[in-house]
Amino acid sequence: DIQLSERVQRIKPSPTLAVSALAAQLRSEGRDIVGLGAGEPDFDTPEHIKQGAIDALARGETKYTAVDGTAALKQAIIAKFEYDNGFQFKPNEILVSSGGKQSIFNLAQALLNPGDEVLIPAPYWVSYPDIALLADATPVFITATQESGFRINAQQLRAAITPKSRLIFINSPSNPTGAAYSADELSALAEVLREHPNLVIATDDMYEHILFGSAKFVNILNVAPDLAPRTVVLNGVSKAYAMTGWRIGYAGGPAKLIGAMKNVQSQSTSNPTSIAQAAAVVALNGDQQCVRDMCVEFEKRARHVVDGLNAIPGVECLMPDGTFYCFPRVTGAMQARGIADDIEFSRRLLDDVGVALVPGSAFGLDGHVRISFATSLAVLDQALERIGRFARGA
Ligand code: PLP
Repeated sequence: DIQLSERVQRIKPSPTLAVSALAAQLRSEGRDIVGLGAGEPDFDTPEHIKQGAIDALARGETKYTAVDGTAALKQAIIAKFEYDNGFQFKPNEILVSSGGKQSIFNLAQALLNPGDEVLIPAPYWVSYPDIALLADATPVFITATQESGFRINAQQLRAAITPKSRLIFINSPSNPTGAAYSADELSALAEVLREHPNLVIATDDMYEHILFGSAKFVNILNVAPDLAPRTVVLNGVSKAYAMTGWRIGYAGGPAKLIGAMKNVQSQSTSNPTSIAQAAAVVALNGDQQCVRDMCVEFEKRARHVVDGLNAIPGVECLMPDGTFYCFPRVTGAMQARGIADDIEFSRRLLDDVGVALVPGSAFGLDGHVRISFATSLAVLDQALERIGRFARGA
């Protein structure tokens, strides 16, 4: 029998990908399944971006690139950071990776030692804890509830920090809740972080462009630029440009840390795909109307699905500030149906009425479920009708 590493035995496969796989399997068996598990836009990658990849192929850009990304893509990222966020990065402060997830993985490998604590506001994106565990560090959760709009506050942060705290994740707008922090809320957190100079801040801005209403995106560095020497800004093209399969993410941060992350990458995957990098240049430098169009559509769906959910007895849902997720509390419906936890609730929902979604406990908060509305209004209506029927026990 093969003895696996202790490290790998600490982690589990991504629960969100697992739901999608189970839904696909049931579908292949002929079951009628409505999928609300998707972690990706349902739109196709815009044509002009695809053409960028085709052009790169035609030019013969099929060889290794620099490990940390082509000069053209780094320039596009630097321009994006300047234009969208007001940040000034130099090329040696930028690393391009095979998806945002690899940027985060590289960061953990480059920064963390055994016993280090990683502060993770919950509900959290499923990969943060496991990426910390793979770096022999310990996840420490700071839980926010629906009452606080799924945002942690300064007192909670202060109470969670210990001498071992090394890294904190901020993800706004958030997967899975769609909650975004305001400038004032970030200022309050920054005040606490200032007292702890050993803490590195990872701001995961993957959903920056999927923000509703008139809200303007704000990063902690916009309100606390003094934290820049220990902050890494994580972003990517996956969600904004419907490019999840292309695998391009990027990080901007202090040269020393970015350099170490590059070394991790150079000894694991090397450069991200040359053709995908060329497409990402076109995405970042090209017309941004496609991003706005997708966002408008997501907002329309958000309103529709939140209204529909709140009309179901035992279900309460906040309007997300952005993303294509909402995170309703379903404890009332669980109670009415005699269901003990959200994992059982999700399993029964799939079994009884064929709706696939992800239980909230996968994101660190029981009694909720994550609904992805990266699907058509027609499919959402079907899902709402079925969830309503299930909640009523009909
Ligand atoms: N960060 C958050 C909050 C995400 O939700 C995701 C994807 O689900 C990622 C990072 C990683 O994105 P990518 O597909 O570029 O690896």
